[in-house]
Amino acid sequence: MDAHEKILLDQRALDCVHCGLCLPVCPTYRLTGNEAASPRGRIYLMRAFAEKRMEPAVDTIGEVDKCLVCRACETVCPSGVQFGEMMELTRDLVEATPARGGFARRVKRLFFRHVLPHPARVRWLALLLRFYRESGLRFLLQKLGLIELFGAKTVLRDRLLPAIPPLAERVEPPERTAALGQPRGEVGFLVGCVAHELLPGANRASIAVLAENGFAVRCPTSRPCCGALPSHFGDLEAARSLARQTIEAFGEGSDPVVVSSAGCGSAMKEYGRLFAHDPQWAERAKRFAARVVDWNEFLAAKGLVAPQGRLDLKVAYSEPCHLAHAQRISAAPKSLLAAIPGVTLVPFSGSDTCCGAAGLYNVTQPEQSLQLLGQKMEQLKGAAPDLIVTANPGCHLQLRSGASDALPGVEVLHVAELLERSYRAGAKSGDASGAKAS
Ligand code: SF4
Ligand code: SF4
Repeated sequence: MDAHEKILLDQRALDCVHCGLCLPVCPTYRLTGNEAASPRGRIYLMRAFAEKRMEPAVDTIGEVDKCLVCRACETVCPSGVQFGEMMELTRDLVEATPARGGFARRVKRLFFRHVLPHPARVRWLALLLRFYRESGLRFLLQKLGLIELFGAKTVLRDRLLPAIPPLAERVEPPERTAALGQPRGEVGFLVGCVAHELLPGANRASIAVLAENGFAVRCPTSRPCCGALPSHFGDLEAARSLARQTIEAFGEGSDPVVVSSAGCGSAMKEYGRLFAHDPQWAERAKRFAARVVDWNEFLAAKGLVAPQGRLDLKVAYSEPCHLAHAQRISAAPKSLLAAIPGVTLVPFSGSDTCCGAAGLYNVTQPEQSLQLLGQKMEQLKGAAPDLIVTANPGCHLQLRSGASDALPGVEVLHVAELLERSYRAGAKSGDASGAKAS
């Protein structure tokens, strides 16, 4: 507790000069117009907790929970306030106080410490959700109004429940995928926990595109979870335990560890900070974090083998917060999409504003999550795309859920899936040239 307080007081919170430049970009401030729901207001609150001027209590932790940790405030902050780190530390402090009800804490710990570390349990959970969604049980509960017995928040959560792919689609990626064409090196690839169960197509395409670009891809068979979710939601002990498993799974070495999920990549690049006070792991974590590279960033930097298949599509790219703000990567995915023949990128306002997924925000704060998703859909409707593209599993599922109501027939894909379609179309037409895009 003291170490956290010191970090909050001495190194982070005092950087804020209260200029207010972050207010217009903060989605929760824009929704409510309430200073307490702004980055500046939350910094006051975090300092008050750290300085013990205020106790975390049920009626004072609301704005800690309602923050998306989207880090849009960091992008515009002239003082370099590290808001994401402060909020993660504050949430970790709050979890240890009576302000967090025993039941809520137990459920979170159960999920973060006893489900996420075990791929088989994540699979069972996904299967249960699929059974609920597809067996008619959900339809029955909705039709008879029985879902309302579980409370208003559950009704909203139910609206956001994504489609879960059948078991047959969740094929384990091979431990090693060979490079195609001219070999350019070998990379590690994070398959992830939730992404593998809910969006296996995005992983498959990410690996296929790397191979198409001449990179052999190695996937650890233990399929570790990177710890992004517990880190985001204030269980730093669980996050560290998962991070250790991830570091061990990839082993020592100098080959890049490529990550196509923005939230996971952002957390893995910050392992050095996560273990800063652990003398046993600090150096190893820092070395590992230096190897982590976002999938878009990696391919854009290496030079993409030009995709040849023409896809005449208007594409809207919705930027994941953990790519645009946490990793400051915005141009790379757009350059990859622009390399696809026939693709026109259609800009839309709010493309880098949170869609309301924010890790498990759609579970913990479904009302605000739906409001943010509604705004995103209105902005997307203005752009009238044929297809929506993103680069993070949470955003992918959230946008898919929104589009099924607001933009019927408009598919949501990962950047990698669209690129893979172009490579496949090119191969079919026998046009693949292997030339590099400029
Ligand atoms: S932009 Fe930065 S310095 Fe200004 S109020 Fe926001 S957090 Fe504080
Ligand atoms: S992280 Fe996002 S929601 Fe939280 S204060 Fe910053 S801009 Fe607002």
